[in-house]
Amino acid sequence: MSSQIQLKNVSKVYGKPGSPDAYLAFDAVSLTVAPSEFVAIVGPSGCGKSTLLRIIAGLMPQTSGDVLLDGRAVDGPPEGVVYLFQQYSKSLFAWRTVLDNVMFPLESAPRSERARLRERCIGYIRQVGLAGFENKYPWQISGGMQQRVAIARALAANPRVLLLDEPFSAVDALTRMELQSLVLDLWRENRFTAVLVTHDVEEAVFLADKIAVLSHRPTTLAEEIEVGLPRPRDHIVTREDPAFLSLRHHLMSSLLGDHARTRAHA
Ligand code: ADP
Ligand code: MG
Repeated sequence: MSSQIQLKNVSKVYGKPGSPDAYLAFDAVSLTVAPSEFVAIVGPSGCGKSTLLRIIAGLMPQTSGDVLLDGRAVDGPPEGVVYLFQQYSKSLFAWRTVLDNVMFPLESAPRSERARLRERCIGYIRQVGLAGFENKYPWQISGGMQQRVAIARALAANPRVLLLDEPFSAVDALTRMELQSLVLDLWRENRFTAVLVTHDVEEAVFLADKIAVLSHRPTTLAEEIEVGLPRPRDHIVTREDPAFLSLRHHLMSSLLGDHARTRAHA
């Protein structure tokens, strides 16, 4: 099978369609994501990126169109699909240690399995660079480290598909770059399919194989771009690659173009 996620003409209306308060979040979005592909969805704030990701995750139904995972219609949160939220500080349990947060998805496993799973989770904590912090509480570590815990917990759920909703937007610029490289390493090692929502054009180009660009309202899929930059990617080398700069230019013009011109003439 060549596609793992398939969106066919997906539209979302908030409120009752046809009623005065009906609000069209986006219209007729079609997109396919292949197994182990890294796809970024970029678009301006409020264009419906999070809505689209929640629909893929089965957390919310679409109004029309088809959403398929491995060829089957999504009608609730599917097994093996993990959602990484933007607000990690809200997604971690403050009263649980790092290790107990990471073990959370494995809570329902039989008692006889616990020692083995505990070792596995300690391995994930090491993979995200937090060895030695297993017994700390979220409030004892930095924001970037908390997001690493959230990433380790996502790994513990052994995702086939990892959905990331602006996962680095709440950390400082250097931490963001470290976390981007971490996610690329984990993606290469664990071969899950990744769908990342972001308003950050450079982040999309740096991480993705393919970028889906959502337009300003009324939102539709404006274009799909194959990135094609060599891997492994590196912040210093990749970001200076002429192909990186040309993609960045193209995406910035497409997302910012109208606003930039309006301001210049104001
Ligand atoms: P993005 O993630 O691109 O910023 P969202 O998907 O969060 O955009 O929201 C898209 C639009 O849908 C926004 O205008 C937002 O106000 C609206 N919206 C989001 N969630 C709801 C909701 N639960 N009910 C009504 N409108 C919503
Ligand atoms: Mg959003």
